[in-house]
Amino acid sequence: MSIEEIYQRFRNSNKVCTDTRKIEKHDLFFALKGDNFNGNKFAQQAIDSGANYAIIDEEEFYSGPQCILVNDVLETLQQLATHHRRQFDIPVIGLTGSNGKTTNKELLKTVLSKKYKVQATQGNLNNHIGVPLTLLSMPTDTEMAIIEMGANHQKEIEMLCKIAEPSHGFITNIGKAHLEGFGGVEGVKKGKGELLDFLKASEGYVFVNEKNETLTSMVKERQMVRAVYYGKDERALKMLSESPQVVFENPEGQKFTAHISGAYNFENMQTAYNIGLYFNVHSEDACEALASYAPDNNRSQLVKKGSNEIFLDAYNANPSSMEASLKNFMSYETEKGKVVILGDMFELGEDSEKEHESLGQLIAEGNFETVVLYGENMKAALKHLPMAFYFTDKFSIHNWVKDKAFDNKAFLIKGSRGVSLETIVQFIG
Ligand code: ATP
Ligand code: MG
Repeated sequence: MSIEEIYQRFRNSNKVCTDTRKIEKHDLFFALKGDNFNGNKFAQQAIDSGANYAIIDEEEFYSGPQCILVNDVLETLQQLATHHRRQFDIPVIGLTGSNGKTTNKELLKTVLSKKYKVQATQGNLNNHIGVPLTLLSMPTDTEMAIIEMGANHQKEIEMLCKIAEPSHGFITNIGKAHLEGFGGVEGVKKGKGELLDFLKASEGYVFVNEKNETLTSMVKERQMVRAVYYGKDERALKMLSESPQVVFENPEGQKFTAHISGAYNFENMQTAYNIGLYFNVHSEDACEALASYAPDNNRSQLVKKGSNEIFLDAYNANPSSMEASLKNFMSYETEKGKVVILGDMFELGEDSEKEHESLGQLIAEGNFETVVLYGENMKAALKHLPMAFYFTDKFSIHNWVKDKAFDNKAFLIKGSRGVSLETIVQFIG
């Protein structure tokens, strides 16, 4: 069956579904495969639960005309997404980067929603399956789309661009994340740069914060003419303070207080603001949107527990985001005693020991009242932190925190997703 014919069926369906547990009447079921599951096996169940059709790629599971047999279900999903995207003559903004993609996406969504009907990536669905699902979720009246693109190796962004065909795009930053898969920072630049290569070849527009030298030189190196620069000129936002919350001022002199913290988040806000202006969102509306944005999922959250304050940034960590968070916490002026609780960073390959050790050095410069480290990799940081408390299992760290009955402290909690340090919060105060 051709993509055009499958597309007709998609248009007559309720929505795309890849999980039979979530199926609704008249859905179009895609039988994807993973390491531990084969969606083909659930095709009949999907139809029995009300799906209009099931797209499968293993003949033995064909059970009648409601099954559509294709060569490769994933490829069909991706082609269908591109076909759907091509029905829209609207700005499709693709974004990638080492850190802050989801935050940028959410900030930009709130800003652009002041004026447009925006469809954006749900949560963190930013890979070869998430990107097509995002595109296919675009209702016909969508006026703007924002597509988060994640990658941990070369050619991934190129592939996602071919699926989403962004008309506009930007890179949040280049940092030390997924070093293992990319092969060092130069590899990260090349991999993320695939978005710029796509935009250049397709005559799309790139947004670039001129204050970020790496990003600016990546754009200049490629001699991209359709580049929109911001950050340095009179249309930029000004940061008045970064901690505990960002306070900022727009060019009209209006002041706003955000729910998020840190100079790095101000950078994220600057981007969303300037892209908003570019698309004619009013400055005050854009700032109101930025100020109202409150993150969830343990990304740069500010939490109060009794007399304690917690900078909860436990969603993820890598050397660049650790440094950004730590520097922000260091700059926070408070009477409270400062406690940092930091967990392992993953996916650093051969740089792991070196990066944890230099993190230890940076922590030592902070002169914190208490330093708590968690995880096997963090052992390398201890070298510079003879007074640190060190744990390698959750039960012990939880009990230790509980026993301390902390009072009137300011905490920074951060670590990779794999160590889920947010579980500690319940034992504070
Ligand atoms: P993922 O790779 O999981 O999709 P992401 O790129 O979407 O991550 P976010 O989820 O937005 O990133 O943020 C993750 C963490 O990155 C935040 O909690 C914060 O510590 C850090 N971060 C956010 N913005 C920046 C930035 N501009 N520079 C450095 N670190 C940042
Ligand atoms: Mg993300």
